[in-house]
Amino acid sequence: MFDIETVRADFPILQTTVRGRPLVYLDNAATTQKPRQVLEALDHYYRAQNSNVHRGLHSLSEQATQAYEAARDKLARWINAPSTDTVIFTRGTTEAINLVAYSWGRHNIVEGDEILLTLLEHHSNIVPWQLLAQEKGATLRYVDVDDSGRLRIEQYEQLLSEKTKLVALNHISNALGTINPIQQISQKAHAVGARVLIDGAQGAPHLDVDVQAIDCDFYAFSGHKMAGPTGVGVLYGRRKLLEEMPPFLGGGEMIREVNTDHSTWNDLPWKFEAGTPNIAQAIGLGAAVDYLSDIGLEAIRSQEHELVHAALSQLADIAGVTLWGPPAQERAAVVAFSLDGIHPHDISQILDQEGLAIRAGHHCAQLLMKRFEVSSTARASFYFYNTLEEVEALVRGIRSAQKFFSRPVRT
Ligand code: PMP
Repeated sequence: MFDIETVRADFPILQTTVRGRPLVYLDNAATTQKPRQVLEALDHYYRAQNSNVHRGLHSLSEQATQAYEAARDKLARWINAPSTDTVIFTRGTTEAINLVAYSWGRHNIVEGDEILLTLLEHHSNIVPWQLLAQEKGATLRYVDVDDSGRLRIEQYEQLLSEKTKLVALNHISNALGTINPIQQISQKAHAVGARVLIDGAQGAPHLDVDVQAIDCDFYAFSGHKMAGPTGVGVLYGRRKLLEEMPPFLGGGEMIREVNTDHSTWNDLPWKFEAGTPNIAQAIGLGAAVDYLSDIGLEAIRSQEHELVHAALSQLADIAGVTLWGPPAQERAAVVAFSLDGIHPHDISQILDQEGLAIRAGHHCAQLLMKRFEVSSTARASFYFYNTLEEVEALVRGIRSAQKFFSRPVRT
């Protein structure tokens, strides 16, 4: 296990105050904080290596290219990709999913096909498929969840048919923390000939991801949710599919030869990386992977589990609290809740007075909110640098919000 104080000292922002109180940052599902090792990698790139990649033959460009491609190697190892060229840098999960919808989707989905999603999905794993389905005359189907936010697997099996061409779902729900049985889901999808896309935005930062064991066709995630910079993410794709897929964006980097009337494409992964990539961010993400690897995913998971367990059991003791989502052992680092008679936005505002950052809203999961008949929830989400003292601060904050709103209103 790592020393929590040493780890926290690596994150400059965790030493700051908000409204005169030490920052308690519990909005990690939205984005995580960055350790100095990542900040230094960004700084070093701009101060000492700044140059365009893959183009120049001068030393600086070679150094930048080498650092950029080394980051790709690290990300390939992070998800156990079978080869580095199946790892494409994107701007993030959203762009990675759109890449698949535009490139694979527009060439493989035809009228009458079905795309199977779930009610747990983030909007970025719904809207690209809606656009595709509208264009092609395909149908979207959704797997429901039970009242604890677990996928109804028996319904999934019923919905699967030879019409299903794609199953797209998240590894972990950002709104509830549910960990989905993606290996089992993938196997069943393949049995009917469907392809599988996993939205790993909340998976890759917290779990030991092995895309070969999961046997998915695509796995998408964002750097900024795993201690890396914004503006960079990854799409892993099965090599055969990536080779067959046409480019997503056209421009420099992605071509082999340009003629007046047609062009030919570069090899993987660059075929899908048109234009100057986010070089510094990719290198910064490589540094984040190094940092997380040093800490170890087992230690990360165990710290998060302790925090979630403590939060769930302490919140369950407070009258007027509704907890959403599955039991602690079946969820990742997310705790969603509501308080009787207090709007989640008000909870968030009151907690902010105490220096606590949580999220309130629909969490880009409006289908799930509708399923639970709420317009929004409050959500605390953890990363390995959070502490049990911070969970206690959250619980204290919730009690004071309840006290504040139970005061008689003076007229
Ligand atoms: N999917 C899930 C499950 C997410 O949590 C998020 C980010 N909240 C996204 C997709 C979108 O990620 P990004 O905004 O980094 O593209």
